[in-house]
Amino acid sequence: MSTIFSKIIAGEIPSDQVYSDDRCIAFRDINPTAPVHILVIPRQEIAQLGHMTEDHEGLVGHLMRVAGIVARQEGYEDFRVIINNGAGAGQTVFHLHLHVVAGRTLSWPPG
Ligand code: AMP
Repeated sequence: MSTIFSKIIAGEIPSDQVYSDDRCIAFRDINPTAPVHILVIPRQEIAQLGHMTEDHEGLVGHLMRVAGIVARQEGYEDFRVIINNGAGAGQTVFHLHLHVVAGRTLSWPPG
């Protein structure tokens, strides 16, 4: 099922895009939780991490590498990557996405 992120990929609704390639895009979260809060999403529709198959391993590895690229692009070597899988874990948009968060002290454990 398509989500708002498919519309962002299609350019039907605007986003503050910071990275794009043939497999993914990255854009600023509309409701940032830190000075840097970027979402990295695959162009392919995968609803959530738990729906990954072996075929997706290369793609998801690529998303992880892009997380590092966008963090460094923003000037940060230290950053956190978060994937919420399922409503009970806080997922609200059912199109796989990596949250890349940086620019403030990040406590542990997360909430
Ligand atoms: P999650 O709760 O892990 O599913 O994360 C979804 C994220 O998407 C939230 O942090 C939202 O603030 C963000 N979000 C929702 N709609 C948009 C949008 N149109 N542009 C940018 N970020 C969005």
